[in-house]
Amino acid sequence: MNKESNQKKEPALIVQKNNQYSVECQTKVAKDCLQKGEFCDSEEEAQEWVEDECWIFSGEGWICIKCNEHFMGNLKKTRKSRGLDGLDDDLEVGINTVR
Ligand SMILES: [Zn+2]
Repeated sequence: MNKESNQKKEPALIVQKNNQYSVECQTKVAKDCLQKGEFCDSEEEAQEWVEDECWIFSGEGWICIKCNEHFMGNLKKTRKSRGLDGLDDDLEVGINTVR
């Protein structure tokens, strides 16, 4: 069986340097954003590394824990200042539009 690759590799998520790979943070919104994960020998290892560090996969890319905290912090602020529903929508919009 000739199986087409189901795994879509998104090259933009991976930084390559000296034959080492690192996953780059998708959003980089936090002041203390980690920017990228540790450099590993393969893309797979690089992704495993960020998984171990509890980075969040948004569907399009990885979001480092610092940026995730940043988003969560914003959510809490929004909730306090607005006291409205629809917070989930806000979060999705935030992640999709911030690059
Ligand atoms: Zn980040």
